[in-house]
Amino acid sequence: MRREQVFWGWGEPGAGPSLPNHATAFLRSELGVDGAVIDRPVALEDVRLGEPGLDPGLLPRLEAITGAVRTDREARVLRCRGKSYLDLLAQRAGACEGAPDAVVAPADHSQVAAVLQTCAEAGVAVVPFGGGTSVVGGLEPLRGPFGALISLDLARLDGVMGVDERSLTAVLAAGMRLPEADRALAAHGLTLGHVPQSYEWATVGGCVATRSSGQASTGRGRIDANLVAVRCATPLGELATLAVPASAAGPALRQLVAGSEGALGVITAATLRVHPLPAARRYEGWLAPSFEAGCEAFRRLEHAGAAPDVARLSDEDETRYTLALAGLGGIARRAIGDRCLAICGWEGSPEAIARRRREAARGLRREGARFATQRAGRQWAHSRFAGPHLRDDLLDRGVMVETLETATSWSNLAALRAAVRAALPGTLTGCHVSHLYPTGASLYFTVLARQDADPVAQWRAAKAAATDAIVAAGGTVTHHHAVGRDHAPWLAAEVGELGVGVLRALKDRCDPAGIMNPGKLL
Ligand SMILES: Cc1cc2nc3c(=O)[nH]c(=O)nc-3n(C[C@H](O)[C@H](O)[C@H](O)COP(=O)(O)OP(=O)(O)OC[C@H]3O[C@@H](n4cnc5c(N)ncnc54)[C@H](O)[C@@H]3O)c2cc1C
Repeated sequence: MRREQVFWGWGEPGAGPSLPNHATAFLRSELGVDGAVIDRPVALEDVRLGEPGLDPGLLPRLEAITGAVRTDREARVLRCRGKSYLDLLAQRAGACEGAPDAVVAPADHSQVAAVLQTCAEAGVAVVPFGGGTSVVGGLEPLRGPFGALISLDLARLDGVMGVDERSLTAVLAAGMRLPEADRALAAHGLTLGHVPQSYEWATVGGCVATRSSGQASTGRGRIDANLVAVRCATPLGELATLAVPASAAGPALRQLVAGSEGALGVITAATLRVHPLPAARRYEGWLAPSFEAGCEAFRRLEHAGAAPDVARLSDEDETRYTLALAGLGGIARRAIGDRCLAICGWEGSPEAIARRRREAARGLRREGARFATQRAGRQWAHSRFAGPHLRDDLLDRGVMVETLETATSWSNLAALRAAVRAALPGTLTGCHVSHLYPTGASLYFTVLARQDADPVAQWRAAKAAATDAIVAAGGTVTHHHAVGRDHAPWLAAEVGELGVGVLRALKDRCDPAGIMNPGKLL
């Protein structure tokens, strides 16, 4: 049986670190939260579930296609939502009245196609479910005009379907989790090189469907930059693209499928560029005199082709609370003052790392940054998957904690950051830059505050204010989390009404009944 996360939080029970004792002082001084546990998730048996609404005649048909249909409480609750703050608030409270009526797990492309056709005929909404890590409401069980909804669990679309070592490409089944894909590729001396913070649980298909970005994407590129071809089952048939390195055969259809978030159909396989397993990795900490100076150093390195593979710069607030949560608040603050922590990382042969590091170090020093320690980099690499576990502990203690992300040009970066921070008064909002491009960079915000009496309304208001500010300041509504339900109201502001119309026409062509992931993306 495939490992599952808890339905109300991150990872398996007890698998992650807990909030350290010294965090209590930080919570008290920065957020006015006393650190006591004031809320716990409900037990599975206390979750409120609606009666399954599927036509009883349909279940045997879906069972005949896949041999894997579940309607039990656990399956429905586990496939009810993703992992955003709002998802977790609802799951912790046991509010699963709208949970999928059934969880259907096809084993291959033809079974996916048959399930979609059956659901289109029967008028049943379908939500594709990869790793379940969406943070934009992409998995919410919205039925649209339909009376019933299934979660299409892609876990059985598993395995490496082909590796071309000469061309450095691999065909991967969409339901593979990223660590499984990397383990299989390692046997060929290869890696995907795609490591989002959700790495342990996210799937290949989910990453393509949301155009995700890994932590080393400055060096390795985003998933869409590594996408060579896709195979997608839609209710109206197969949409597949040719695995060639480049083509001028019209607009790139594979890039229309990438980022389609299950609204057109189900990605069943992806051909991705893969990379030789690096012989060595080096991560280290630097201190920039200010966020602006650190950004300037990164910009110059990117333009000189000398940026590290991992290039991550925290602003003053994020630096402060990162150190405080690591138990280094007082000591480190005295030592580093208002400097900003940057993590730089390189992957490759030891010689290439040494050469690239020398060049980057020169650029960083030129902007006034100084080398801190290699330990800080190792510590970041060691604990980079810990944050989501700590989030569960913060929710137990009545803390609002959520992230926002955007991207813009280098010229607009400072103004966009200022606009987002101004839109979030009364919060502790830290920010980092973590994905560099020749023309600009991403900004990633972590927003912390004491929960008020209505935490859902509190976050909705904060999110709306921040997203309005992002749009007004010329940033994208999402750099890598995707649109889902949460960003859909702002999509027209980014791509225009005609742009939305083009996407809608595409959906209507692939999914005329409108069963695919209603209410997401569009
Ligand atoms: C703690 C945490 C950290 C994260 N860190 C990052 C990060 O560093 N970088 C980043 O980019 N994102 C990050 N995310 C967001 C999320 O992990 C990504 O969006 C990821 O790509 C989703 O993959 P998944 O397999 O979990 O997809 P799911 O969450 O299962 O699905 C995401 C969306 O895609 C659709 N979908 C899933 N699979 C398919 C398919 N095969 N075909 C068609 N549609 C499909 C779903 O219906 C849904 O709308 C993070 C999320 C969390 C909770």
